[in-house]
Amino acid sequence: MSLISCKNLSVAYDGKTVVNNLSFSVDEGDAVCIVGENGSGKTTLMKSLLGLVKTSGGCIEFSDGLFQNEIGYLPQQTEVQKDFPASVNEIVMSGCLNKMKSPFFSKKEKAKANFNMELLGITDFKKRCYQELSGGQQQRVLLARALCATKKLLLLDEPVAGLDPIVTAELYELIKKLNRKDKITVIMVSHDIPGSMDIANKILHLNNNGSFFGTCEEYKTSDFGKNFLGGGAND
Ligand code: ADP
Repeated sequence: MSLISCKNLSVAYDGKTVVNNLSFSVDEGDAVCIVGENGSGKTTLMKSLLGLVKTSGGCIEFSDGLFQNEIGYLPQQTEVQKDFPASVNEIVMSGCLNKMKSPFFSKKEKAKANFNMELLGITDFKKRCYQELSGGQQQRVLLARALCATKKLLLLDEPVAGLDPIVTAELYELIKKLNRKDKITVIMVSHDIPGSMDIANKILHLNNNGSFFGTCEEYKTSDFGKNFLGGGAND
């Protein structure tokens, strides 16, 4: 069953089209990686799925079981966000805010945050200040926060940007586990196409002159894949 279906979707800023006539669908259990050059509209697409950016054409349909406020989002990190002065616990708890009915966190929400901190191995530093953590630890905190908002769908915008290869591999393993074992559908923006292929079952490649959407196998043999994966495309 499709969780999200985009049909002829277009998004424009001040009349300039950034996402043009894009169609693709995400099924339950999928891990879709969105790749493409800088400026090809990856973050804009993520924001339009979240309802943060207005679409200018086409439509985004959510399946009966998924609502826009039930999507867990890990935004691209900026230098300013890395210095955010809050504790790990506070940041993870803030993932519950979208669905709260009262201004106070309930026992259920606190339990959910604790569960997700345990799942991501960050319980030991829940009282520490976020800005003191390493880049990899910060991404785990943001992933735990995103999980508080969802049981179904995670949108991850460049989750491994700026991380060293060992921490990148650890984070990829975590994302793979959340997708394959915990059955959470994942849509991830990445510049790391080979790394993405290890996690994804489908690739969406955005390009200012068109796009590709299909399985990893189809991508490897496509003109897009051949260009971007080079000689190793059929390995
Ligand atoms: P990507 O994530 O692939 O790097 P973006 O979605 O961030 O691409 O940006 C796509 C294009 O839209 C770029 O040319 C960028 O400058 C432009 N853009 C992004 N956000 C805005 C905005 N808020 N207002 C105007 N233009 C924007």
